[in-house]
Amino acid sequence: LVIPDFTAFCAELERLFVAVRECREGDVASYIPQLARADADGFAMAVCTVDGQRFAIGDTDARFGVQSTCKPINYAIALDRLGIDAVHRHVGREPSGHSFNEITLNAARLPHNPMINAGAIMCASLIAPGLSAADRFDSVFQTWRALAGAGAVGFDNAVFLSERDTADRNFALAYFMRENGAFPDGTDLKATLELYFQCCSITIDAPGLATVAATFANGGVCPLTSERVFSNDTTKNCLSLMASCGLYDFSGEFAFTVGLPAKSGVSGALFLTIPGVCGIALWSPRLDALGNSVRGVEFARRLTKTFTFDSFADG
Ligand code: GLU
Repeated sequence: LVIPDFTAFCAELERLFVAVRECREGDVASYIPQLARADADGFAMAVCTVDGQRFAIGDTDARFGVQSTCKPINYAIALDRLGIDAVHRHVGREPSGHSFNEITLNAARLPHNPMINAGAIMCASLIAPGLSAADRFDSVFQTWRALAGAGAVGFDNAVFLSERDTADRNFALAYFMRENGAFPDGTDLKATLELYFQCCSITIDAPGLATVAATFANGGVCPLTSERVFSNDTTKNCLSLMASCGLYDFSGEFAFTVGLPAKSGVSGALFLTIPGVCGIALWSPRLDALGNSVRGVEFARRLTKTFTFDSFADG
């Protein structure tokens, strides 16, 4: 067993969860009504080890939108299917130093990385562009199901419709990239953006998201089904970019203080991977000024103070 005394480990996680639950700072995202109506005090934590031990606490049945946590998944899908060179002809792999939806490109006139909106829109354009909209979405959706071990993956159509209705910035990013010749030839912008909004509108619960994280921690093989979802190389490359770019403008600080590959979303979702050990999911919709879950980040901080999980620590 990768965590021999799992009961003691879970008792410690529960202690951290209870302590962090006291925090009521931050506000839920309000750019669309569906997110503004989220239960501000909802809180769930779940863990899944690479050998399939699981534990969850709090609002473990609550379904939430994956939002920006779809970005590493879309990047990994594109990488797995097209390979590094083909993907990185269209998107960079450096932190941007700008906010997630800033209208900016790198020196090669490409989006800085797949974890910001421009890069995520680019990755969506690379996913099965020859297929119908339905089949493109279905291939992403089935990937989520496989990553989650067939867990509670769903879709929130109201979120999708309001994302699409309030998407001026994302349209602006897409047109700016097209003006700069960043997309593959023949890219259908509207279809690409709609696929991106649909990916953001996928829903999951904390135990499902923990299994997704555990699949990344396990080199791309889902610990619950033993299905290989992504290659080892894809997984490693995706974790590298999560480590450097996964938490919006807090990514550098998070790498410094926590040191784990992670990705957050405006729904208050946050997943952490501890490579070779486990995946951890947190959901708490109150966000800090940079858009990360306040309790999620605080939990991650306390976790790596309690255990030596920091990828850059030596023991
Ligand atoms: N749907 C959001 C957008 O594209 C994603 C926000 C997020 O989780 O960062 O603006």
